[in-house]
Amino acid sequence: MFKTREEYRKYHREWKRKKREDEDFREKERVNNRKYREKNKNKIKEIQRLADKKRKKKHLNKIQARKAVNQAIKSKKMERGKCVKCGVKNAEGHHEDYSKPLKVIWFCGMHHRLIHRKNWGIQELEIKTK
Ligand SMILES: [Zn+2]
Ligand SMILES: [Zn+2]
Repeated sequence: MFKTREEYRKYHREWKRKKREDEDFREKERVNNRKYREKNKNKIKEIQRLADKKRKKKHLNKIQARKAVNQAIKSKKMERGKCVKCGVKNAEGHHEDYSKPLKVIWFCGMHHRLIHRKNWGIQELEIKTK
């Protein structure tokens, strides 16, 4: 690879310089990151708190939406439908929007799982399972 010793030394010097710069750079990044976190501690906490709240709210909406459907069925306000995809009876109600608890699409267990696992909407399910 190297014709002369000189060439090798030059290469080696260059490599050491680059490595040093790299480490300096990384160290600076680390310090900057730490400083940023220190300075914005409360802001970061607030962002995490909000994200947590949002997640919990979504979870709660989901539970409430399911409850609403079950109650509506029990009180005969609505009937459990058939899977819109394969027609299996006694399907599960799927919510596209948890804020509209009684607006459900009926899916059998399999199609319901599929739509959630792949994060599909009804259109994707229609297209991709043809
Ligand atoms: Zn669902
Ligand atoms: Zn189905």
